[in-house]
Amino acid sequence: ILEVEHLEKRFGGTPVLQDVSFSLEQGQTLAILGSSGSGKTTLLRCLNALEQPDAGCIRVAGETLFDGGVRTAQRSGRLPFGLVFQAFHLFPQYTVRENVTLAGRLQAKRRPDYRANRRAILQRIDDEAVRLLGQVGLLAQQDRYPGQLSGGQQQRVAIARALALQPDVLCFDEPTSALDPELTGEVLRVIRSLAERRMTMIVVTHELQFAHDVSDQVIFLERGVVAESGTPDELFLHPKNDRTRQFLAAYV
Ligand code: ATP
Repeated sequence: ILEVEHLEKRFGGTPVLQDVSFSLEQGQTLAILGSSGSGKTTLLRCLNALEQPDAGCIRVAGETLFDGGVRTAQRSGRLPFGLVFQAFHLFPQYTVRENVTLAGRLQAKRRPDYRANRRAILQRIDDEAVRLLGQVGLLAQQDRYPGQLSGGQQQRVAIARALALQPDVLCFDEPTSALDPELTGEVLRVIRSLAERRMTMIVVTHELQFAHDVSDQVIFLERGVVAESGTPDELFLHPKNDRTRQFLAAYV
């Protein structure tokens, strides 16, 4: 469903991503590992159109989003990518349910049949938000505000919000690194359940056991280069690259 070819990104003169290529099948999970500054966040930001790559190609679901320095027009309707950030970024002035419905409501306003079918369209968006909040275990909190929730609950709202736009590929940027250890598990459980439902995902994480268990494919980024890639067993149990070995050893 996703093909990334020869992606390059420089900040000033400094290369941050160099010749990054990988592909991902529908329903699979890719884990991205790498030390701080290796380019993991930049890669997710390039996929999510928050950064403009300098070269390379990004294709999703048969459609070219980016090719050789040119970002082609976005599709209407489904988004190619969704992104869950380290630091939740919920809207504090809206309730949990409103946080999940907001983007869908804005998107719906652009539909040609919006005026004629407003009630039914908004009802569907609301029903879907309730379903997703159920899926992440937060039905009881739907009328609360983000400030009244724990960090783990806020991150689960952020996941429901990203799912509401039905992205082809859902990306996570170190989704538990801002959480206390006791709240990490509840967020990882939600991501694990999405993997079991065959959501296509890219997860940047330092939770190595989790990455091993949940992913179908792992990439190790080192200074903007794919130093090693393979199945979780290949990468975690039989790493070929010295840097991968050092990186893994530092976590044991
Ligand atoms: P971390 O695990 O610390 O989040 P990372 O692997 O996600 O690290 P990136 O955040 O992608 O790494 O950063 C890669 C490199 O690019 C770093 O050296 C960083 O300083 C640099 N960089 C990132 N964003 C910018 C920017 N907007 N302008 C200039 N340099 C940047």
